[in-house]
Order: sequence, then structure tokens, then C-alpha cells
Amino acid sequence: MPELPEVETTVRGLAPVLEGQAIARVTLRRADLRRPMPHDLGQRLTGATVTALGRRAKYGLIDTDRGDTLIFHLGMSGRWRVDPAEILPHDHLVLETRAGRRLALNDPRRFGSLDLVPTAELAEWPAFKALGPEPLGPDFTGAYLATVLDGRSASIKTLLLDQRLVAGLGNIYVCEALYEARIAPTRPGGKIGRAALDRLVVAVREVLEAAIAAGGSTLRDYARPDGELGYFSKQFQVYGREGQPCACGGIVARRVDGGRSTFWCPACQK
Ligand code: ZN
Repeated sequence: MPELPEVETTVRGLAPVLEGQAIARVTLRRADLRRPMPHDLGQRLTGATVTALGRRAKYGLIDTDRGDTLIFHLGMSGRWRVDPAEILPHDHLVLETRAGRRLALNDPRRFGSLDLVPTAELAEWPAFKALGPEPLGPDFTGAYLATVLDGRSASIKTLLLDQRLVAGLGNIYVCEALYEARIAPTRPGGKIGRAALDRLVVAVREVLEAAIAAGGSTLRDYARPDGELGYFSKQFQVYGREGQPCACGGIVARRVDGGRSTFWCPACQK
């Protein structure tokens, strides 16, 4: 499933193809993904020029000079294909630029979404309204965490996955960040001291930035025809490594709560 780094990498991969470019043709090949797409999406995008690309949580943002933002979510299996040689059955949206580039949004399981929202109203858009700060932004700090976690008895892992506290963190990177900060995922959020919270903020940024850098380094391969944006191989310290040794000499453990796996090292995460 694409997490924040994959979405960020996708946005960075789309930018050179779309930024400053006019959209010559829009082909919608079905009416819905997880939910219906705007019926006038093609009409509003055709002829528009893309002014900027961005990301909020796990949503990619494509701004146009008509004051609209195309918001895409990759769901479980979504990916953009750059200059595909042929259009495939699960390419649901195809954008062609006046410069002759072609982008296809491919999503076999259709858990993704496409919305077109006035850029000026983005902050009030329902999925964005209650979101916490971006983990890579200036508002996500140890002081912020100390304030919002105060008195909270839920586990730090559960709290970091709460999009109202911090936006866009998913299971994989929360496991990795808690490992990097050497904090046990089961610890109550309100019981973690300020020094550990400062460490956690640094760890969250580091694991996300390392994943984005890893994705960025493979983008060269993805930029050729038939390339796909959105996925890359990753190397994790604890995620998916149950039973394997930790650098401290401990063994990586796994537990499942509500169908979601937690990986951690009980020897060095306290
Ligand atoms: Zn360890």
C-alpha cells in the first residue's frame, strides 16, 4: 500500500511532466474509483495549465490555473504510469499534455480516489479539515507531541497512526520510527518524556526522508516509457523482520492487533 513517501515520490516524479504544462486531453475510462469521480472532471481539466504539484498526508495535489486542485489518492494499488506505450485495462484516467506527454492513473483494486476541489477551499475539504500537521513540516515538533499526547493512555503506536495528531503516517513507517527512537510501540503516549519525544520527531523525519530518497533514486528507472511511479523496494529495520536479529543482539518481535502487525525489538525499545 502506498504510504506518504511513495506519494511524495510520485508527486516529485509527476512534476517534471506536468508543471507549467497545458493539459490537451483528458480521458476518463470509468465513472468511479472508491467513490464517483466529479462528472465534469474532464471538462474542467481540459485546456487548463498545471501550476504546481504538492502533497497533503497521503493525497497528491495537482493545481491548475483555473483555480482547481486535482486530488488523487493511490488507495491500495494505485500508481501513475508515465508515457505508457499502451493503455491498460486498469488505467482509469489518462492525461495528455500539449507537449505530447501522457500519464495514466492505474488502480486495479480501485481503493483510490480522484477529486477536483477549488484550491482556495482545500483546507476545508472534509478529508483535510481535521488532519494534524505534516510530519515533515515545521509544526511537527517534540513540544507539539508533548501537548497533544498529554494524559493520553493509548499506545504511542496507535496515537501516531491517528491522522488528527499527525497526518499521513502509516503502519510501516510508524514501526520503523519507533524503532529508530528506541521507544516501545506499546508505551502509553502520555507517559513518554520530552527527550524521547524529541528523538521520536527526528526518527519520523529520518525514516520518511530516507524512504523518499530511496524512491527518488529509482525514479530514473521509472521515467522511461511504461514506467510506473509510486512503488520502490525498501529496506526496513524491523518491519517484516519477525524473528530476525536486531543490531543490539535482540530478536525482532511481531504482534497483531485488529489485523495490523506491529514489529519491534523488545530488547532495545523501551
Ligand atoms: Zn534491539
